Amino acid sequence: MDHLPVFLQLQGAAVAVVGGGRVAARKTSLLLECGASVTVIAPHLDEELLEHAARGRVRHLSGAFAACHLEGATLAIAATGRREVNSEVSSAARARRIPVNVVDDPGLSTFIFPAIIDRSPVVVAVGTGGRAPVLARLVREWIEALLPAALGALARFMSERRPAVRLALAGGARRRLWERIARGQVARRVLEGDESGAQRAFERELRLSKLTRSRATEARDLGEVYLIGAGPGDPDLLTVKALRLLQQSDVVLYDRLVPDAILARARREARRIFVGKEPGRHTAQERIHELMIRLAREGLRVARLKGGDPLVFGRGGEEAQALARNGIPFLLVPGITAALGAAASAAIPLTHRGLARSVTLVTGHAAEDDTLDWSALARDHATAVFYMWVAQLPEIVTRLRAHGAPPSRPAAVIERATLPGERVLRGTLGGIAGLCAEATVSAPALLVVGEVAALGRPSAALQLQREMFLEGTAA
Ligand code: SAH
Repeated sequence: MDHLPVFLQLQGAAVAVVGGGRVAARKTSLLLECGASVTVIAPHLDEELLEHAARGRVRHLSGAFAACHLEGATLAIAATGRREVNSEVSSAARARRIPVNVVDDPGLSTFIFPAIIDRSPVVVAVGTGGRAPVLARLVREWIEALLPAALGALARFMSERRPAVRLALAGGARRRLWERIARGQVARRVLEGDESGAQRAFERELRLSKLTRSRATEARDLGEVYLIGAGPGDPDLLTVKALRLLQQSDVVLYDRLVPDAILARARREARRIFVGKEPGRHTAQERIHELMIRLAREGLRVARLKGGDPLVFGRGGEEAQALARNGIPFLLVPGITAALGAAASAAIPLTHRGLARSVTLVTGHAAEDDTLDWSALARDHATAVFYMWVAQLPEIVTRLRAHGAPPSRPAAVIERATLPGERVLRGTLGGIAGLCAEATVSAPALLVVGEVAALGRPSAALQLQREMFLEGTAA
């Protein structure tokens, strides 16, 4: 480590910024956010700095830089874009032992600016010792994507309660309480925006932490269950919330549709339990309910991970009801349902001006009974997306035809959408059964019927993603 990361308290501190252009303006804004008292030394100011000066937010010393301008400064920043001047600022500052940053010139600087993620009061700083600033910004983007938006609110929530906790508890007990708050329901609720729920959970935690340890364990909170949609298969299609909860869970109950690449995103120490429905290895729905309830009652955080969205042909509704009936707290996290993942992969718009005004998600199992409005599905300018349809294909085609869909109606099949080995077949209602038989299509696959199924190119989007990826690695 060749630089020590520190956080400077700059409220009211005098900072000299040499330079009047865009770069100087950017640094000035940052310093003003920290409450610094900024003097800008430059012959001319750009618009943003002029505005700051006009409003009295900064002091402007008009003219060329002179070493005496640094008198009394806590920090100096050189952003003139001219090496001679920058270097003059650097030596004048060093001579006075004032920390100095020369923008984009670590050699002339005694400190450097990190890339910043600001969820004040939580601030993350990323540095590469000035060696690869672009990489620092990339790392910032990755971290930015992972941190909950309400992280600042959580920090404020915790900080406001510090006096109460300090009064109530001593050292070790206090630290354990904060651990439970940060990792448990209290934090989760603040991040969800449920401040009053968080306050109740906090009060409960505080009460429990005053009991003896064994009594506290007895009375300890229930765990909770997260019914999480894992999306169609590509791990990058998990939501940020899904990823965060997966990282916090003690146990993961997963279905057959959830690929290893997604399970790998769960906490390393989390127990993983397969509860999928597979021929010969069937976990009855009631067994899954019992398991979730038992694990939550043991105080565990249970991630119930389902392919696609939990509320689209996922039995998430039944599981939520069972949890509610048994008083287990739960959270529903939506996922990208297979139809949406497949549509994007195959570049098939599900609705499209002039071609489709509605889209229906339907299960192929319904082909066996008469509960569906087949004439609505067969209508012009309507898209029907069938899930779980492979065995019922002939029946589906017959019914749609019988209700007026022409044999020329476009139809597409997307097999293993967003997963390795994805295939897209295009044809018509008249020919799709033959195509599927020839290509031996198997689950998981979707069938899209409607004028829109003729649009897009097979795997056009995949192609584009691959090219973008290659460009990204070349850059
Ligand atoms: N809850 C899930 C659907 C579960 S039902 C969701 O919202 O997507 C299972 C059916 O979903 C499969 O038979 C198949 O029709 C469809 N399916 C799920 N993942 C798929 C994928 N990656 N590609 C194509 N179809 C998929």
